[in-house]
Amino acid sequence: MMKWLENLKSIDTSGTVGKCPFCGSENTDYKCSIVNLENGNGYMDIWCNDCKRAFHMSRMQVTKGMKTDGNIPEKLKY
Ligand SMILES: [Zn+2]
Repeated sequence: MMKWLENLKSIDTSGTVGKCPFCGSENTDYKCSIVNLENGNGYMDIWCNDCKRAFHMSRMQVTKGMKTDGNIPEKLKY
């Protein structure tokens, strides 16, 4: 969890994940999924396309600027 802390901040401030905390690759991505359309609660997955490390953040507020499209790759290592 804490390894991805800087990436969470980066998404919040710049909308991009930034460097993978495990392998340093910039080939990273994220996707938010809204569960409750009324209040915007949902979850987020962040991952690295190179080393496949990933982080799942549950129960969060998905705000307007956050990315909700795209596909989460298979075989990620959470
Ligand atoms: Zn990586």
